[in-house]
Amino acid sequence: MDSGVSWADINNQVDRLVEQLDKKAARRYRIDLIKRMAIRMEEFELANCEICVSNQLILVGLIGSIQQLKETGGKYDSVQRKAIVTMTEHLKNEHKLVEKDFYTSQYMAIGIALGAGIGVALGAGVDNLAAFIGVGTALGAGVGVAVGAGADAKAVKEGRTI
Ligand SMILES: [Zn+2]
Repeated sequence: MDSGVSWADINNQVDRLVEQLDKKAARRYRIDLIKRMAIRMEEFELANCEICVSNQLILVGLIGSIQQLKETGGKYDSVQRKAIVTMTEHLKNEHKLVEKDFYTSQYMAIGIALGAGIGVALGAGVDNLAAFIGVGTALGAGVGVAVGAGADAKAVKEGRTI
C-alpha cells in the first residue's frame, strides 16, 4: 500500500509540528515519539517490512489529526491512541525495539515497589516502620534508576530504541 506521501514530506510535517507545539501540547500528542517512529518506520520500510509500509498511512492520518487537534487543544480519541499503540507494538514485537527510557521507567517502578518491601523487611519488629519504608523506597528508586539507565544506554548503543 502506498500512501502517496514521501517520508521527506512526513518528516517535514512532523518537524513543523515540533516547532509549532508548546511543551505541553508536544507531550499531549507525543510528538517526539511520533518523530522517532517515523525514522524507524522508514528504515524498516526500506528493509521491506510490509506492515511498516501500511503503517505509514496510519502515521499520515495521525499527523493530520494533530494538525487539526492543535487548533483546539483537544486530546487524542481512543482510535488515535490505539493507532500509536498499534504502531509502537509492531516496532517492539517485530523489530525488537524498546521505547526511549523504557528501562529507566520500568526499573525505577520496580525499585520503588520492591524498595518498600525491603523497608518492611528491614524494619520488621521496630516501632518506626514508616522510616524504614521511606529508606527502602529511596534505595530502591536509586538502584532502579542506575540499573535502568545502564540498560537504556546499552539499548541506544545497540540501536534498539524507538
Ligand atoms: Zn515493520
